[in-house]
Formats: sequence, C-alpha cells, structure tokens
Amino acid sequence: MAHPQDVEVPPHSVERLGRLVGPERYAALENEASTALGALDGAKVWNISSTAHGGGVAEMLQLLCGYARDAGADTRWLVIDGDPEFFAITKRLHNRIHGAAGDGGDLGLREAAHYKAVLDANVDAIDGRIHRGDVVVLHDPQTAGLANHLIRYGVHVAWRCHIGSDRTNTFTEEAWSFLHPHLAHCRTFVFSHAAFVPAQLAGADVWIIEPSIDPLSNKNRPLPKARVSDLLVRIGLLEGPGTGRASAVMGGASPLSPEDPLVVQVSRWDHLKDMQGVLRSFAEHLAGRTDARLALVGPAVAGVSDDPEGAQVLEECFDLWRSLPRRARDAIRLVTLSMDDPVLNAVTVNAVQRHASVVVQKSLQEGFGLTVTEAMWKSKPVVASAVGGIVGQIPQGAGILLGDPSDLDAFGWALSGLLADPAEMASMGRRARRHVRQYSLSDRHLIDYAHLVTHMTRLPPT
Ligand code: UDP
Repeated sequence: MAHPQDVEVPPHSVERLGRLVGPERYAALENEASTALGALDGAKVWNISSTAHGGGVAEMLQLLCGYARDAGADTRWLVIDGDPEFFAITKRLHNRIHGAAGDGGDLGLREAAHYKAVLDANVDAIDGRIHRGDVVVLHDPQTAGLANHLIRYGVHVAWRCHIGSDRTNTFTEEAWSFLHPHLAHCRTFVFSHAAFVPAQLAGADVWIIEPSIDPLSNKNRPLPKARVSDLLVRIGLLEGPGTGRASAVMGGASPLSPEDPLVVQVSRWDHLKDMQGVLRSFAEHLAGRTDARLALVGPAVAGVSDDPEGAQVLEECFDLWRSLPRRARDAIRLVTLSMDDPVLNAVTVNAVQRHASVVVQKSLQEGFGLTVTEAMWKSKPVVASAVGGIVGQIPQGAGILLGDPSDLDAFGWALSGLLADPAEMASMGRRARRHVRQYSLSDRHLIDYAHLVTHMTRLPPT
C-alpha cells in the first residue's frame, strides 16, 4: 500500500502581495479570485506532485497553495509515494521529454506496468477523499497515470507539464508514447511554453502558463547584508567569524574572501543542468586568470526524493573538481545545502544569489528556469543557455543568452567579458529586475491559475 502525503502549506497573505504589486494589479487578482471561488462553489482544488522539497515544482506549489488558501479556496497538495524503481522510470521519462537518453534504460511494457502499479496503489490510498466537482491538477510525468482513476470520481483533471523540449527526437517520441494512454484521460493540459506541447495534443484544451517567483518568499524576500554574510559564513562558503558552523562545502575547501567576485549556479544535481560544463569552462577560462570565484550550489542529495540521479551527478562533479589543477580548485567550491529545514535552505539560496556578482544557468534543456528569474529579481546579471523556457525569460539586454549550450568557450568568454564590465552588469541587473516585476511575480501566476480553475469547473462533467 502506498502512502501519499498531505503537504501542509501555511496561508500566504494575498493582501501583502497586493501591497507590493500595487492597487491595480491587486484589484485584477481579487477579481479573478472571486470569480474562481464562485465557480468552485465549495469544491476543492487538488494539486498532486511527486516531491514536497527540491526543484521548481515544489517551490511553486508552496506559494500557489498558500495564496489560494488565504484567498479562501480549499486547496490541497498531495505528494505521491513511489519506490526507487518508479522514480528511476519517471526520471527516465523526464530526461527523454527533454530529448536526452538519461540512464539509457527501457520504457517498455515492464516499466509501463510498474508505473501503473505504483500509481494504482496511490489511488487506493486517496480513495474517498476526492469528490465530484473537485478540480485536480496533476503535475509532471510522475502523476499522469492517476488520471484514469480520478475521472471515475467525476472530477475535472488537468495535467500540468513543467518540462519540455523545443526539439523532437526518438527520445521525446518514446516518452510521449509512454504517457499517451494516461494523457488520454486528462481534459486540460498546461505547459510553460508553447513549443513544449507535443504533437499528439494538437487540438486539445491546452493552456500556456509560465511559472513565477514570489517576492515575499524566503527565497526572494530582501535580506540585510549582515544576514547574507552570516548565512554564507555559516555554511563555510565565505570567511568570517565562526566560519563553517554548518559546513556545506565539499572536500574541506577553505572559505572564500567576501571581496572576491562570485559566480554562482544554483541547481539540482542533474546532467541537464550541466554543472560539470560550468565547472570545466570556469576552470579553463577564469580560474587563476581573474579574481573571480565559482560556487556550484545544490541540494544535499538525500533531500530530493524523486531525483535518483542526484548522488551520481554530484559525485561526478566532485571527481572533476578533485582532478583540477590547484589554482582551479582554489577558485571553485561545490556546496550542498541541507533540505531538512526548508526555510533555512530557502534563505541560504537567497543569500547565495544576493551575494553573487553573476548568476549562471548553463542548462542543456530547461522547462522554465526558476533560478534565472530568482536571480533577475535580485538585480543580478545572468548568463544562461538559450534553451527551452529560458529564451523567453531573459529579454534583450537583461542578461546574456548563449545559443549553443555545449559551447564551453563561448560560455567562458561571455562570463569573463561580463565580469570585466561592472557598468554593464549593473544596467543588466536593473533591466532584469524590471522585467521580472512586470511579468513573473506570483500575482500574474495566481490570476492564470484562477482563470484555469474557473474554466475547468465550467467544462461539462466527464
Ligand atoms: N533550489 C533550492 N535549493 C537548492 C537547489 C535549488 O531551493 O539547493 C531551488 C531553486 O532556488 C529553484 C528550484 O529549486 O527555486 C529549482 O527550480 P528550476 O526551475 O531552476 O529547476 P528544476 O529543479 O525545477 O529543474
């Protein structure tokens, strides 16, 4: 028997958000929320995902659910239970939707049967809790297989896919074929980017909703400089009094000087984030040639339950770091942040991003890079790959987009050129913040979500 978990989310004050975004945007939000509440007429909104911590979906659901509850919608968040084989299969699906082989394993009948069996067991455990008229949003490939059961309760099911690739190949086709029988039971689909919608969903009820960040969350709220230093000294990244009280820096490397310009990539340890590429390029082009330092920051690998690749990728990065010449090792730190205390994890990421001179996101594929938008909100210049959703996140002049994500030289040159031009860094940062304020804060996302919920309640019963 599986044990799906209810994630408790404290309400987040919509009014406080309203004060930050201004009366006009607040009024638009109130208006859309009240329409959705009327349409729900007491029914619940369920979000079902595969992890409560680590990664962009968990990050976003905390906020969406918190605000929706404050606005009066009975919004629930369930996290499914799965065994390692299930998460190996779903990670394979994740990689293949991005057009990559992943672990090279099969997605055949045996895997389909295991995927189904795990989700069937989850349904048995939630039986009786979801009722006719409720709205259910299933997140990502891990949960798509719940749809055929849920529609039997007379609920409206949407599938929200947070990942995707703007190219198709045999891997993407394989993943979409695997999911096809499950998606046939979903009524509505949500993608972050129009280019991610697979051909098989042509003509379906498809919505494009971009993710957002929350300006009031622990990840993004303003932090006093002293708090930033204290947090970074505490994890052993920077020198200071009492350094390394909760050391998170691998290999016992010494703390960095707070004066050195710091380049940062914050990511899960996932091949598609290409932490290794960042490391190689920095070692080759910047380490020892400039006073810049690099921190690759990710979760402690036990903390992200639906990501079986994490430990392996982290180990590969660590091996690579160990193999570097001394001057490169001295300039580069690998940092793993504990996920045990989600608040401390979030403020520490916030502090790392605020301390950074430049934030990079050298992903090989990306649905929507929350870390990019988080950094832009903090007025940081970003150097990122022009892949997937990132292309729309960084408008002209608000960061640097690199056309070929595998070109380590281009990445190194762009980074060193930018670090040598503080005036350009500052103006990029200002443009970045303005752009995020206008398009990527929670109020816009909540309006889209409320609109989606209203739409779903008005669909004829399935
Ligand atoms: N993140 C975090 N702690 C970490 C690493 C990442 O809180 O150690 C957060 C990061 O700040 C961002 C999210 O996880 O909010 C990652 O989302 P993104 O869209 O960048 O990538 P995903 O993990 O969803 O592929």
